[in-house]
Amino acid sequence: MKTGKVYLVGAGPGDVGLITVKGMEAIKQADVILYDRLANPKLLEYAPAGCELIYCGKLPDRHVLRQEAINSLLVEKGLQGNVVVRLKGGDPGVFGRVGEEAAALAEHSIPYEMVPGITSGIAAPLYAGIPVTHREFGESFAIITAHDKSKEGQPNLNWASLATGIDTIAFYMGISNLPYISENLIKHGKPADTPVILVRWGTFSRQQTLEGTLENIAEKAKKVNFKNPAITLVGDIVSVRKRLSWFEQKPLFGRQILLARTGTNESPLAKELINQGADVIEFPRWTRTKMPVNAEILDKISSYKNILFTSPESVTEFFGDLLDQRIDIRSITATLFGESTKSVNAIHEKGLLARHLDELNELEHLLVVGDNYKQQQYVQRDFYLTSYKKVDESFLPLIARMLDEAQVNTILLPSSGAVKVFMEEGVDKGFVGKELLEKAQIVCLGDKSKASLQEFSYQADLVPETPSKEGVINCLRK
Ligand code: SAH
Repeated sequence: MKTGKVYLVGAGPGDVGLITVKGMEAIKQADVILYDRLANPKLLEYAPAGCELIYCGKLPDRHVLRQEAINSLLVEKGLQGNVVVRLKGGDPGVFGRVGEEAAALAEHSIPYEMVPGITSGIAAPLYAGIPVTHREFGESFAIITAHDKSKEGQPNLNWASLATGIDTIAFYMGISNLPYISENLIKHGKPADTPVILVRWGTFSRQQTLEGTLENIAEKAKKVNFKNPAITLVGDIVSVRKRLSWFEQKPLFGRQILLARTGTNESPLAKELINQGADVIEFPRWTRTKMPVNAEILDKISSYKNILFTSPESVTEFFGDLLDQRIDIRSITATLFGESTKSVNAIHEKGLLARHLDELNELEHLLVVGDNYKQQQYVQRDFYLTSYKKVDESFLPLIARMLDEAQVNTILLPSSGAVKVFMEEGVDKGFVGKELLEKAQIVCLGDKSKASLQEFSYQADLVPETPSKEGVINCLRK
């Protein structure tokens, strides 16, 4: 039996764009992924369909899978011949216990690679506008744990050298020990007015910060109940923040969006929203299985006067079938239609002109091309079924966890199909709570989706002036 390979990968601090190319490649070819709580679950969308996803999340006081169990699972999956990815928040070598995992693999002669990641102690400050070194404010930087495995959880550090020898200090896992940290630093010679910043969920749109000094930060944090995961950054450098803040200035910073999704491909809208500073949870994830070629319909393809494509995927799949069957595109004489602008564009990319569904008047000699969801909508028509689409059940717990961690304040419904999916798969199945619908702003992309939502007895709070990416962004920034 062939032995597998294990990749011990740093996922970066949160923002999905901050994983390395190498880490992403490992995810894309994984058979099994064991992931931690602090690795952004959105990265798992890039895993191949059918990849086994195992949560090893640790909440500060609830260990879901103990370290020994994780080690033996890694060994077991590796020995079975799998490509295994162990995905950890930040860098695997920084308070990530990667050494213990690698040792277990080495003991069983399982090949492994370690892939570095961007550690939160550097990234979270940078996303708050603070470089950890600066020629004027900080020439040295230390990464320190503020919590250890001792009984009290209070690490026995060389406080005197820290207080006097290091300019900028990033404490990890530090919130509960804030009083302990500040007292010791002050006691050993760090000025009490040294600036401190706490950065929680750094690099996510839900990033929160709290500023103070060594003297008052513990009390300030207690007052607002500031929680982990957060970096505590101590040093004069914190004062440059006002000038250098950038991430928090993005137009959609703080927007935590739940986006109803009907497509199986990466959504360009989601990507743009993230670029503008939002966090986006896409629901649901779909699996798509290609159907066999329908030769009966293809044989008489030249007899159709109109062909309607119901999604961009249906365009790609249909023309793929033609090529498979060695049928030249030119044997199609029908006028081509797309159900959405996206589908029209997908047809254009084939070098063929297409019109929007709104212009379709003649329903005689019409062929509709699409997946099983669309088939229900066009029962009276000749239908070319390109693929079978199903909600990816294995992904549901993950989305649930994302919803749990985030504070969704915006629900985005891009089409009437998306409204239907959102209500049926999300709300009716209890996956999206009714309170969320009451609390969040509901944005429908156009009048059709607005009307569909009304059929389910809910109202849209916002409809952008134009149903484009720019339109949505303008409307959300207000
Ligand atoms: N390997 C990780 C650290 C794991 S220890 C890394 O390199 O970043 C867990 C601690 O990391 C948390 O308690 C918190 O202090 C910090 N942390 C991880 N992700 C964070 C984030 N997005 N924002 C702020 N702190 C984070």
